[in-house]
Amino acid sequence: MSKKDQKEETRMIHGVHNPRDHHGVVNPPITRTSTLIYPSLKDFEDPTFKYDYGRHMTPTMDVFIKAVTELENGYDGIVGPCGLAVITTSLLGFLKTGDHLLMVDSTYYPVRRFCEQMLKSMGIEVTYYDPRIGANIEELIQDNTRVIYMETPGSATFDVQDVPAITKAAKDHNIVTMVDSTWSSGVLFKPLDHGADISLISCTKYINGYADGMLGVGIAKDENKFRRLKKASKNIGLSAGSEELNLGIRGLKTIHIRMKEAGERALEMAQWLEEHDDVQRVFHPALMSHPDHELWKRDFSGCNGLMSILLPPSTKDAFRTFIESSELFGLGDSWGAFESLMQPQYIDKTRTAVPWKEDGYLVRLQIGFEDIEDLKQDLERAFKAFREANT
Ligand SMILES: *Cc1c(COP(=O)(O)O)cnc(C)c1O
Repeated sequence: MSKKDQKEETRMIHGVHNPRDHHGVVNPPITRTSTLIYPSLKDFEDPTFKYDYGRHMTPTMDVFIKAVTELENGYDGIVGPCGLAVITTSLLGFLKTGDHLLMVDSTYYPVRRFCEQMLKSMGIEVTYYDPRIGANIEELIQDNTRVIYMETPGSATFDVQDVPAITKAAKDHNIVTMVDSTWSSGVLFKPLDHGADISLISCTKYINGYADGMLGVGIAKDENKFRRLKKASKNIGLSAGSEELNLGIRGLKTIHIRMKEAGERALEMAQWLEEHDDVQRVFHPALMSHPDHELWKRDFSGCNGLMSILLPPSTKDAFRTFIESSELFGLGDSWGAFESLMQPQYIDKTRTAVPWKEDGYLVRLQIGFEDIEDLKQDLERAFKAFREANT
């Protein structure tokens, strides 16, 4: 069977490392190093020599980048100590003073903060746009627009973007497109197959999968975009630790089954919550009620364990009671690991292109791998406490 005929699950297990290269050891060895000895002066003097310094490349880094590049059908990529570092480095690699950036309104909040507090002070113009804009993005394109940045589904509300329509408009104007694809993590949607130039993933989430490491990756579709990315990464000094890279390599071996299980559980939970009297709305693209459900079905192969719920209008105190009454959903940032989490979403303070006007608190839920009936019972207890506190 040729490698091309193998499914990506198989390639993640057999295609990224050959055990015969290391006496049959099934996992690639973790290479911890700063220094790599050059074979010759000629190699030392060659700026394209690959293995020159631990910050730029190590065998462990190489295995990880190759694996994600393979998943994303890209050309090559860069890694960083976390997702945000790779995202900001990528933006800096393609923007300079006087340029204009189109940024999706539902972007992960720290990316927005970077635009507000860093890019704007460097004289880079930023326009936030409606995630549902589709081909109408054309109307926001200016002569100095250099990057269109997407995140799909977007943070907190999980708005699905029409990536093919937006990348088509971008190509007509020679604009670079970047997609934060952390939600899909190389599995559920492949931005580069839908016209995007760069796919950005926080590997801290599903790729790691165990909440014990932080890591980020950016994969470019072609050599030119990769060179720009790598240049920015080298100049800024982006790198990643061998242990974290190894956890990423490990995570990729089981990500397909974890994602499938997480998606099934989340859908069951989302349907249950949708029927619940103490929930106004559930935001999960696999639900028929989600406004982007059809677009999600067209482009995505599945879903993960994330969703948001809008509670009925309530006092802050009742909301606090809800959050603190759950014993199984920890109040915590991040997602994509084994444990259930909840996180308040105060998006009325951040969204500008599509102001958030809903009454009631919005909470993001990450459905973990606990028994699902236990999780429902736990939420039932929290809803009861919420009702009692909200009278
Ligand atoms: C968590 C997250 C990031 C940032 O990743 P870190 O590894 O925490 O820096 C970026 N985008 C999205 C959508 C995320 O959820």
